[in-house]
Amino acid sequence: MAPKKRMERLRDVGIGPTVQRMAILEFLEETTSHPTADQVYAQIQEAYPTISRATVYNTLDALTKAGMILKLSVDPTVARYDADLGPHAHFRCRVCNRVYDIPIGGKQPLVKGFDGHLVESVLTYACGVCADCRADSAQSKRTTTQKRSKTSSGSDSSDRKKGTTGKKPRASSTPPEPSQEESHRARAS
Ligand SMILES: [Zn+2]
Ligand SMILES: [Zn+2]
Repeated sequence: MAPKKRMERLRDVGIGPTVQRMAILEFLEETTSHPTADQVYAQIQEAYPTISRATVYNTLDALTKAGMILKLSVDPTVARYDADLGPHAHFRCRVCNRVYDIPIGGKQPLVKGFDGHLVESVLTYACGVCADCRADSAQSKRTTTQKRSKTSSGSDSSDRKKGTTGKKPRASSTPPEPSQEESHRARAS
């Protein structure tokens, strides 16, 4: 998308097209990583070292309210942003926490209205393990099978403890511990 077009689109929705705001929109339009606000901030700060965190957060809010980007709740721990407004669903890997686009068929998966309600958008979130992480775990299983079989009796208590703390703050870049509760929630939403 040409810069001028982006400038006009921001003006059209009543957002003053500052270079920083245009840089935020451009970054989102050119990435498929569905970044968090902090990841957008880190990226934009490289080109504009004086930009404040508040400017990034406020711009993301304004762009979301104007319908120019989507605020995704596919990640239960933090909001993620997407400038791709085309019909697609999202798949979050519970191991590496990356969010992938899933193409969806041309036909609407749901009726447009029922019981007097009007369905305007259908948000589909899927959760599981991505191809990269499946390849990683297959490889580590192969290399650690022997070691594990020797130490498996009673030595996994530290692993169990890790799974029950659950209260430590999660940095946006680290994948959350996969937990039963989380996968149920993801399925239910
Ligand atoms: Zn993964
Ligand atoms: Zn997307």
